[in-house]
Amino acid sequence: MPHECYGSIIVIAITDPYNLFLMNRIITGIVGVLFCLCQATGQEACYTSNYLQNIWQGSPEAARQAEAVKLFVDRQIAARQADLSWRGDGTAVITVPVVVHILYNTPNQNISDDRIYSQLKVLNDAFRRMAADTVNTPDRFKDRAADAEIEFRLATSDPNRRATTGIIHQYTPISLWEPDDKMKYSAQMGADAWDTDSYLNIWVCPLRRQLGYASFPGGDPVLDGIVLNTAVVGVTGKGDYNQGKTAVHEAGHWLGLRHIWGDDYCGDDGVDDTPQQANFTNGCPTGVRVSCGNSKDGGDMYMNYMDITTDPCTNLFTEGQKQRMRALFDPGGARYALLRSGALNPPLYQEIPVAEDAPTWLHPQLYPNPATAGVTLDLAYDPRWVGATLVVTNLQGVVVKKAVISNKIQVLDIRTLKPGLYLLNARRADGVSLKFKLVKI
Ligand SMILES: [Zn+2]
Repeated sequence: MPHECYGSIIVIAITDPYNLFLMNRIITGIVGVLFCLCQATGQEACYTSNYLQNIWQGSPEAARQAEAVKLFVDRQIAARQADLSWRGDGTAVITVPVVVHILYNTPNQNISDDRIYSQLKVLNDAFRRMAADTVNTPDRFKDRAADAEIEFRLATSDPNRRATTGIIHQYTPISLWEPDDKMKYSAQMGADAWDTDSYLNIWVCPLRRQLGYASFPGGDPVLDGIVLNTAVVGVTGKGDYNQGKTAVHEAGHWLGLRHIWGDDYCGDDGVDDTPQQANFTNGCPTGVRVSCGNSKDGGDMYMNYMDITTDPCTNLFTEGQKQRMRALFDPGGARYALLRSGALNPPLYQEIPVAEDAPTWLHPQLYPNPATAGVTLDLAYDPRWVGATLVVTNLQGVVVKKAVISNKIQVLDIRTLKPGLYLLNARRADGVSLKFKLVKI
């Protein structure tokens, strides 16, 4: 179960109420340790905080850029609040073009377009406050629940203005991914982002432990987008995160929203109308839960999409969250360029590029064998073989031929070899090796 191991130890830590700063430091340390424990034992609901922390600690410039985006949003919100005549940001419904990169290794990881359609519907229902479960928003919070007036639509034009369904199915030799952004690079067997000024890129791949994570606005364009664990994409009906709400949560991050507890004990999420809250919420509680003296404000808003409660539990964004997300689309905002995207325009070229088929074989093939003139080494299942050195030895261990693998389908000329039995070896930089017996006749 995600995070189950946190709760009790944090209660012990907050019994020292005298030095908030010290307490925060202690708790941060404890949470850090517990994150490791939890990671060792279960799944993490959302990896975004760790992900961003890593980026910002590694790059002061990235941290400054994120802060600049936050200040921009703060200024836009303040200006709106000061302007008594302000009646909206003038952009009715904002439409975000989406491309989904499904990275699969096994056939069951290659989820259907229908799953993606169900995911888009969940996103739109949540951001437009049209989901059936909005009736579960408690009365005490109903007046601040908002239709964010943001919609997500699969792209109709790719970056080359060719027709697209907005869903790319791509075979990869990688069967399990870490939250380290490698899925965002074709050179790392993932898929390069489509122009992030024009598309929200969503990578769907099996993550080892995390349900998903997102970049924040204003970050490196190459990395901009959302990564979702294949298991929680769309309406699956399986497990606690079974209704596609992980994507809603991560889209909130992608639009600059922080976790409802501000990623700190009684932290600040930067939103005026979300109650201060001690921590994330496990499972799906009911009733009023009070923390950080928030009883006057309605108690914890654990049914907010930006908590990590289970999917059946979450049902609202607030007006304050809506304003922060939408301010990014103001002129000068980090998501402003998306309003000019051509991704939803009719394509110039109608034919949709055919997806490359997954290789039939998921291991190296050598044929024909026995052979007379040439043999083909088929490595199409894994392009990481390109660059490795192929060594052919005779039975006495003498190297009779060497070649660098330059192609996924490598042809080897063996006309100069004497008839007999040979061993063919290759080893990749990551240690994976292959071995074949080859008969020359
Ligand atoms: Zn999150």
